Amino acid sequence: MKIVVLIKEVPDTYNKRVLDLETGLADRAASDAILDESSERALEVALSHAEVNDDVEILALCLGPESAATSARKAFAMGAHRVAHIADDALLGADIGLTAEALAAAIRQDGFDLVIAGSTATDGTSGMVPAALAELLDAALLSGLSAVDISGEAVAGTRITDGQVQQLRAAFPAVISITEALPEARFPNFKGIMAAKKKKIEQLDLTELSVEADREDTARSIMLSIAEKPPKQAGVLIVDSGDAGEQLAAFLVDNHLA
Ligand SMILES: Cc1cc2nc3c(=O)[nH]c(=O)nc-3n(C[C@H](O)[C@H](O)[C@H](O)COP(=O)(O)OP(=O)(O)OC[C@H]3O[C@@H](n4cnc5c(N)ncnc54)[C@H](O)[C@@H]3O)c2cc1C
Repeated sequence: MKIVVLIKEVPDTYNKRVLDLETGLADRAASDAILDESSERALEVALSHAEVNDDVEILALCLGPESAATSARKAFAMGAHRVAHIADDALLGADIGLTAEALAAAIRQDGFDLVIAGSTATDGTSGMVPAALAELLDAALLSGLSAVDISGEAVAGTRITDGQVQQLRAAFPAVISITEALPEARFPNFKGIMAAKKKKIEQLDLTELSVEADREDTARSIMLSIAEKPPKQAGVLIVDSGDAGEQLAAFLVDNHLA
């Protein structure tokens, strides 16, 4: 069975994340780059399955700038069999459509039974890449899974929505996205880290994938403007002089919160 895990490099959420207000692109020098946590959890799902099943090949696939190869290498250290990296100058500022097109082309070219992605990346946060991929790959989509069961021919899982617990199943080929309810990813051990240094990341570009970034017949979304978040206003402090309850109730009513 061939599992492709989508791993995305993002700015570390523990650092200050800065957007370049001129270009609208993330200022990558402003924060450390790491693998998105949901991508790591997605890899954990694949690795846990491979631990108890023979004949599973895990390809970790990343689309990002040249520098993303450093983060992607962590997938080797965790236990992925192969790591591939799509990098191309034409992908700078790629929208969801182009991102999904390039990822789909690489996956189609390599072949797959199952694609595992995180539900939402911490930078772009659209949560749309897995759905776009499923459409492009003509594969079933099980999104937002909080439990996953992979068998020889199919994948099943649980999706929890407001007031509902849904049990879902799809035959391969399928795309799934997983939530933070699934276990955290393992830490790579020393042996894995040392071995990862010597392994070769497969490099791909848009020419090899036959993807055109600037096709005139394809709509691309362009960020029109960008502004810094306004600074947070100080909150209202209620001092209890015996009437704090009344003050609180009045605040909630005045702000239409009750
Ligand atoms: C600074 C900045 C500028 C942007 N400008 C634009 C713009 O002009 N127009 C526009 O439409 N969009 C823009 N975007 C959004 C950008 O295109 C998305 O970040 C990107 O397409 C991926 O979508 P996402 O992060 O929302 O992924 P999500 O759909 O939230 O990610 C879900 C999962 O999909 C997988 N995944 C997503 N992306 C990748 C990847 N690159 N490689 C491997 N796996 C991946 C991961 O498993 C991830 O956990 C911008 C984003 C940023 C941060």
